Amino acid sequence: MGRYTGPSCRQCRRAGTKLFLKGARCYMSKCPVDQGHPAPGMHGMRRSRKISEYGRQLREKQKLRQQFGMQEGQFRRFYERALRARGVTGENLLQMLELRLDNVVYRMGFAVSRRAARQFVLHKHVTLNGRTANVPSIVLKPGDVVVVRERPRSRDQATHAFEAATGRQMPAWLSVDPKTFRGEVLAVPTREEIAPVVEEQAIVELYSR
Ligand code: SF4
Repeated sequence: MGRYTGPSCRQCRRAGTKLFLKGARCYMSKCPVDQGHPAPGMHGMRRSRKISEYGRQLREKQKLRQQFGMQEGQFRRFYERALRARGVTGENLLQMLELRLDNVVYRMGFAVSRRAARQFVLHKHVTLNGRTANVPSIVLKPGDVVVVRERPRSRDQATHAFEAATGRQMPAWLSVDPKTFRGEVLAVPTREEIAPVVEEQAIVELYSR
């Protein structure tokens, strides 16, 4: 299955919650979810049907997968890594997703959205621990340092994104110095510090069927 190229807001309206797929618009009153737009499709206005347990689990999984712009195969591989790791599988999964390089670049404010951060990484605008990194799915660890490369194009893009991100809160597990375009992962984020509002246990149940 290919990458989803349809309207981002439609995915949020289907999920019934904000997935923060766009840039500054997601933090404005213009957001269709904040404005109470119904689910997409001709029956979107109807009162929602009772959803089965399987449907609920599937919806939670789709919410998380779409939030990180991942395809099913890659998402499943992340889940399997989370399953093999020590600790609670659902929490491991959220932590691994949160520590992806593209997500860290987004959280640091060097890109306006996860999608833009992915592009930013793919186009080699950042270095990881001093070396150019162009793999968005690398999972970072505490002590890893991300720097926007010292090129006018890279720094201009990061500056614009940083200005647009002023309303966003910087997570406590990251430190960023906007003057040197340098950010560091300070710790593995706790469940409380991870933003996606999702029932991760439902995803574990879905994949354990
Ligand atoms: Fe659109 Fe962002 Fe609102 Fe989602 S959160 S509906 S992507 S503006």
